[in-house]
Amino acid sequence: MKSLFELRELFKKRGIPQFRANQIYQALFKSAKNNYADIHVLPKDLTEFLEKEAPIYTLKPLIKNQNKDGTTIKALFELRDGEKIEAVLMKFEDKRNSVCVSCQAGCPMKCVFCATGKMGFRRNLTYEEIVDQALYFEQELLTKGERVNHIVFMGMGEPFLNYDEVIKAAKMFNDPAGFNISFRHITVSTSGIIPGIKQMINDIPQANLAVSLHAPNDKLRKKLMPVAKTYLMNELMETCKEYTHKTHRRITYEYVMLKDINDSDKCAHELSSLLRGQLCHVNLIPFNETYSKGIKASVKNRIDSFAHILKINGIPATIRVSMGKEINAACGQLAGKNKSK
Ligand code: SAH
Ligand code: SF4
Repeated sequence: MKSLFELRELFKKRGIPQFRANQIYQALFKSAKNNYADIHVLPKDLTEFLEKEAPIYTLKPLIKNQNKDGTTIKALFELRDGEKIEAVLMKFEDKRNSVCVSCQAGCPMKCVFCATGKMGFRRNLTYEEIVDQALYFEQELLTKGERVNHIVFMGMGEPFLNYDEVIKAAKMFNDPAGFNISFRHITVSTSGIIPGIKQMINDIPQANLAVSLHAPNDKLRKKLMPVAKTYLMNELMETCKEYTHKTHRRITYEYVMLKDINDSDKCAHELSSLLRGQLCHVNLIPFNETYSKGIKASVKNRIDSFAHILKINGIPATIRVSMGKEINAACGQLAGKNKSK
């Protein structure tokens, strides 16, 4: 769906009254209408025009998987050109309804442990395609009197390689006329693209930043994430400090736990030294090994011990609850399985 701003611009150009744009947004976000024809206040010729010029959905849901208690719902979408992407709704007990959105079909970053990385890069998504993933869940929740209230850019793709559309999408998520989600509840996760972090400080300083670290030093990080060859750890840490200094916001470092690769006590101590003094939080992610050949997930004891070392060194750390394991709810796993041949 177009942003309210763009819808108004389009209407201005075509001489359509501005109040129509508000009517449409009300119908989408208050009454969960997903079809212009069902918005009865609109004249028929306008409905036809809108269906062509400003379609409500730029994507079509193909498969919906749900875990047993319905707290994690994953959708696979087909875009207009046949590309496939995925998004996940996670419902938490504290009333958080968080949608994890994709920003690219595939991803060019080639992290060795990631299913999306293995697909290669297909194309960037437009902001409408990003927003529509959440709109799909928003409309479903609305029928139960609930709403999407958190967004994480942690689906397929690297947000800072599609910077402009990601920022437009984030701003649309924030728009009070639409999703009305505070920037504080919007998180962008990057593999560590330094220029993107610097730009984000200026453009959406109230949003949360998550940085996928996965290793405490350059040597190991370069083996896991090719991006580490371009953006070295030293410079990455300096940029992250600049982010917290300027925004006063805590950074989340993501660290996926890979058996015998990055999960030793030594790594935990090294990570503690690296992050000491930073306004940060480490999120230890249990590895989803469903489609991985060779790389295994760390055992629970190892993860606990790693977390303990971080904590005694004064680094706040949590172990991510692995939601939706049975529905392949990790980065790229559903689309990877169903990718077009
Ligand atoms: N491209 C961005 C955001 C999407 S990936 C980034 O890399 O940060 C979101 C997170 O899922 C990243 O931290 C990524 O490393 C992690 N991830 C990828 N594959 C995974 C897997 N199989 N199991 C667990 N986490 C995984
Ligand atoms: Fe891309 Fe993120 Fe997967 Fe790396 S982990 S390949 S950056 S989606």
